[in-house]
Amino acid sequence: MRVVIVGGGLAGLAATCRLADQGHEVTLVERGRLLGGKATSFTVEGVEVDNGQHVHLDCCTDYLDFVDALGMSDQLWTQPRFQVTVLRRHAPSSRLRATRGLPASLSLLPSFALYAPLGTAAKVQVARGLRAASRASEPGETFGSWLRRHGQGHAAIAGFWEIFVVPALNAGLDEVDAAAALFVVRTALAGDPDAARIGWSRVPLARIAEAAGRRAHTVRIRTSVVSLVDDGVSVAGVRCADGETISADAVVLAVPPARLATILGDAAAYGLTGLDAFRTRAIVDVHLWFDAPCGPQEFAAVIGSPVQWVFQKQPGYLCCSLSAADGLVGRPESELVSLCHAELAAVWPEVASARLLRGAATRDPEATFIPAPGLRRPGPATSRPNLVVAGAWTATGWPATMESAVRSGRAAARTVAASARAAAPRLEAVHG
Ligand SMILES: Cc1cc2nc3c(=O)[nH]c(=O)nc-3n(C[C@H](O)[C@H](O)[C@H](O)COP(=O)(O)OP(=O)(O)OC[C@H]3O[C@@H](n4cnc5c(N)ncnc54)[C@H](O)[C@@H]3O)c2cc1C
Repeated sequence: MRVVIVGGGLAGLAATCRLADQGHEVTLVERGRLLGGKATSFTVEGVEVDNGQHVHLDCCTDYLDFVDALGMSDQLWTQPRFQVTVLRRHAPSSRLRATRGLPASLSLLPSFALYAPLGTAAKVQVARGLRAASRASEPGETFGSWLRRHGQGHAAIAGFWEIFVVPALNAGLDEVDAAAALFVVRTALAGDPDAARIGWSRVPLARIAEAAGRRAHTVRIRTSVVSLVDDGVSVAGVRCADGETISADAVVLAVPPARLATILGDAAAYGLTGLDAFRTRAIVDVHLWFDAPCGPQEFAAVIGSPVQWVFQKQPGYLCCSLSAADGLVGRPESELVSLCHAELAAVWPEVASARLLRGAATRDPEATFIPAPGLRRPGPATSRPNLVVAGAWTATGWPATMESAVRSGRAAARTVAASARAAAPRLEAVHG
């Protein structure tokens, strides 16, 4: 089949790889000049930086498999064991780490003994919360309500839950569905002790995207799709902003919900409703280059700071990740650089004494969708047999992550392949 995939983010790229492997002729159409969508990289002041620090966890099995299938798994770094250094102002650093060989919900508990941000009462609360995470939440409940209902006090929330759940869902605890947060807790923190091992790409993210893009028959960048060629029964291709039509036997729309709504026009006619219910949150990353290595060895979480996580990308190059950063995303770059420099200097004295060579900010005001209570995420199928949707925001069960994007792209490819099997006699007649 000739398949047109609209959107060169990880969802579109994962669909591309799967369909190309199955022998379909894939044309990948991307609006921007780069492949990778939100997981890409570009040059800032002569240095290639990622569009924000992207981490994977060991439980991101489809993402890891996707990179492996590109022959690039040796370009990913993953810590040998789950362990996070946690810092606060005017306090020594603490560490959370997983102990292997214990029942799932208990693996973090031995490290609680020396974990200073939690007092004894808060440690007991968190231990109880981790056990309760295996049970279902109430329908419509936010994670904030769930935490309060399970006796989690301010210290337990600030010293444990916020560190992981706010960056994972990129939203405040009182705006996310408890079920989405509990999925993160169960999958990463209260399951296999290795599940939360953190890692990232050692090469700029665009290299991964480019490798995946090479699997397509044709890649069209700087090409915006504006509508479908549709006879009301099935689709026959896409129309681009310059007026060109690209014919196809199947179309995958791997774009964010607002763009999908624009391309479809009447989304309900395609069996897709509720696209306007998706709301987004910003992520800001501040990149700081110092004249000497300083800050965390690999990465660290910071409590009580807008800088939630800090990564040592290369010796002397620190990347600060600020999640749910709608209040900061519009601030001038110089202000963001000063803010992060001051925040880091407050927890690592050597940052204050190192010389800051330069700083830059990357921002995405619509980085990820908020998994709000009641949000309905559609699956890949539409009411047209040969039109499929994909994207990290679709019904993968995962929050807006690289894992969700890859899973959605692969689900889209399965749906296209199934429609190809169903349509085989018709296609044979058309193409001889
Ligand atoms: C700053 C930041 C940090 C993040 N950190 C992490 C992290 O640490 N770990 C993690 O797992 N995830 C992280 N994410 C989330 C992750 O990047 C995304 O969930 C994932 O990459 C989304 O992939 P996607 O393909 O669904 O969508 P997108 O990446 O949004 O791709 C959609 C593509 O469609 C294109 N497009 C849109 N409209 C059209 C059109 N009309 N015609 C043609 N093309 C079109 C867009 O240009 C885009 O390239 C982060 C995101 C951001 C922004």
